[in-house]
Amino acid sequence: MKIIPLKQNKNLCWWCNSPANSKEHKFKKTDFVRIYGKGPYKDSETRPNLISPSGFKFIQGPGSNHIKFDNSLCSECNTTKSQPFDQAYDFFMEFFVKNVGIILEKETVDLREVYGTNWVQEKKNLLRYFVKHICCRVASFSFQIDPQIIKFMNGDITLNNINIDFRIKLGMWVLENEYKKTSMPYTNLFLGKLRYYGYLESNEVHRLSSWMSYSCMSICYVYDRNISHQKYPGIKDFLEGPYILFKKVDLKNCPPFKPDLGTKKLIEILENSDKALDDEDGIRYSEELMDLGLYLKYLNLKLT
Ligand SMILES: [Zn+2]
Repeated sequence: MKIIPLKQNKNLCWWCNSPANSKEHKFKKTDFVRIYGKGPYKDSETRPNLISPSGFKFIQGPGSNHIKFDNSLCSECNTTKSQPFDQAYDFFMEFFVKNVGIILEKETVDLREVYGTNWVQEKKNLLRYFVKHICCRVASFSFQIDPQIIKFMNGDITLNNINIDFRIKLGMWVLENEYKKTSMPYTNLFLGKLRYYGYLESNEVHRLSSWMSYSCMSICYVYDRNISHQKYPGIKDFLEGPYILFKKVDLKNCPPFKPDLGTKKLIEILENSDKALDDEDGIRYSEELMDLGLYLKYLNLKLT
C-alpha cells in the first residue's frame, strides 16, 4: 500500500520547490469579504471570530494571518500561476450565492451557465483551486504532495489520488434561513477536521480526508495514493461533462435541534452530520489530525 510520505523540507513550496514565502487563505478572501465586508472589523456585535480548540480569535480584517495556512507556497505559485484557478472559483461562488435556491432543487450546477463556452477549461481551473486548497492544508502538516497532483496543477488533464465530492447540507440551509429572520444573518464558513488513516508515529499514513464549507455547500475530499475507480466510482469521469453534481445531506441525518443548543454546538452537529466521509472500507485506525475550527460571528442566538 502506498503511503503519503512526509516532506523532507517543510520550508519549500509544495508546488515548485522554491522557498515557501506565501500563505494561502484557508477561506478565499473574496468569500470572507462577501460575508463580512472589507474590514477592518471593529463592531463587537458583528465582527467575525475564529473558533478552534485553542479558543476564540477575533479577526481584524480579511488579510488576517489567523485565516491563512502557514507558508506552504512561493509567491509566484500563489499569485500569477494560480490566478486563473482563483478566478474560476470566484465565478463559481458568485453563481452559487445567486442561485442557491435553484441549485438546492436541481442538485446540480451546469457549468455552461457559469462559464459559457469556456466551461471545459474553467471546470479544470475550478478543480485546481480546490486541489490547491487541499494541498496547502496537507502540506502545512508536512505531508508530501504526489507528483501526479502537481502535474494536474501544471496542466495535465487527469487527476489521480484526490477525490472531490460536492454536498448540500440541508440542516445548514435551515439554520441560515432562521438567522435571516433575525437582525444578525449568519453565513457559514467551516473547515472540517483533517482526518488521517494509518499511523502517523511511524510515518505510515495512507489517506487524508476532510471538507470545506461555504453556507450549505461542502466540498469533501480524500487524498489517497491508492485511490481506485472501484472505491470511488466516477473518479475517472468527474472531470468530464459540464455538470457539478451535489449530494444532499438530509435533515434526517441531523439530531433534532434543541432550543437550548448554542450556535457553536448546532453548527458542529450540522457540519458533522454527513457520515459519508466515515470509513467506507473498514479502516479502523483513523484519527483526527486537528480540529481546525469554524468561523462564525460570536452570537449566541438560539433557534426557537
Ligand atoms: Zn512555487
